[in-house]
Amino acid sequence: MSEPEKIIIIGSGPAAWTSAIYAARASLQPLVFEGAVSEENRLASTLPLGQLALTTEVENYPGFPAGDLTAYLDGAIAGQRREYMAPHRKEGVSGPELMELVRQQAINFGTRIITEDIVDVDFSAHPFKLTASDGVTYESQAVIVATGARANYLGLPSEEKYKNRGVSACAVCDGALPRFRNKPLAVFGGGDSAVEEADYLTKSAEKVYLVHRRAELRASKFMVQRAADNPKIEIVWNRTLAEVLGNDRDGVTGVRLQSTVGEPEWQLAVAGVFLAIGHTPNTAFLKDKLALTEKKYLRWTTPGRTATSVEGVFAAGDVADDYYRQAVTAAGSGCMAALDAERWLAAR
Ligand SMILES: Cc1cc2nc3c(=O)[nH]c(=O)nc-3n(C[C@H](O)[C@H](O)[C@H](O)COP(=O)(O)OP(=O)(O)OC[C@H]3O[C@@H](n4cnc5c(N)ncnc54)[C@H](O)[C@@H]3O)c2cc1C
Repeated sequence: MSEPEKIIIIGSGPAAWTSAIYAARASLQPLVFEGAVSEENRLASTLPLGQLALTTEVENYPGFPAGDLTAYLDGAIAGQRREYMAPHRKEGVSGPELMELVRQQAINFGTRIITEDIVDVDFSAHPFKLTASDGVTYESQAVIVATGARANYLGLPSEEKYKNRGVSACAVCDGALPRFRNKPLAVFGGGDSAVEEADYLTKSAEKVYLVHRRAELRASKFMVQRAADNPKIEIVWNRTLAEVLGNDRDGVTGVRLQSTVGEPEWQLAVAGVFLAIGHTPNTAFLKDKLALTEKKYLRWTTPGRTATSVEGVFAAGDVADDYYRQAVTAAGSGCMAALDAERWLAAR
């Protein structure tokens, strides 16, 4: 085996690429495992470039006000990848464009990339050992895990059909888009985040139906009260989503709701469907290797730092954050992880 790497970064969302930019500029020659282009990752929505690559407009990432980016993208992204990108159609940046830009920025400073998953790790001895999906094992002095999380969906074909055309799993990301503004919307879920999403959407929606499969919300008392106090929220009890209704021109136009207590089905006219049924962090390959939270997120072990339960292994982005879950916060903690790793390496 050749010399251990100074730093390996696992992941390919805003956290991973930001870590790579900082690590590369600190002369750590980072090696990024951006994930494999596999059917398994396609089905799990974990293909390279992360969650942002699954969306269209990104209106809340700083630095991209309205404007036509075509010429900039032509100049910034290297040859073939630019050719394969979808034509720029929006007056602002799209998720895939933003991720291509930040990936390119990491490459420009010398980041090397391997398009494979990391499927196993050995953090019990130093240097750490990481095994990729092609069977090759790599050694590294420091590791940043930035493997993100994925939003849970119900798995309905109609839900898949209308993703980005009225079906979303992130109110903060998409709620202010013109297609949802001043329209009736439906949120599915019954926990704190479902109430939070519904409450957030009422800032711009005409009305929000909070649809829950039981007769009582799982959310905390405080959040239940918040839902009750908001005149724009109407709670629909004992119902689940049977089908998202829509058409090619308008996207989502309604939902068909099934009763969980044997009542007849009915339909609601809504312009948007927001799933708030949790997220799954991409930590399965780290089970028993790093401390996880109850919800299986990576645990940051030092307040305000990105250290994990193993010295020399750092975590960044949604894989360790079940609360903010935004591109800019992921990028921010990616920067922190690279600085933490650089200082840790220097101190050794
Ligand atoms: C539909 C949608 C729309 C969104 N819109 C916005 C928005 O408008 N604005 C906003 O700020 N946020 C938005 N978000 C949230 C935002 O995308 C996330 O907060 C952000 O992408 C998290 O970044 P991350 O770097 O932690 O990882 P992720 O983006 O989750 O990427 C991690 C990636 O790492 C790779 N990976 C995983 N496991 C492995 C492994 N074992 N080996 C190698 N690679 C691996 C996979 O490709 C995975 O997708 C949206 C999310 C979704 C789902």
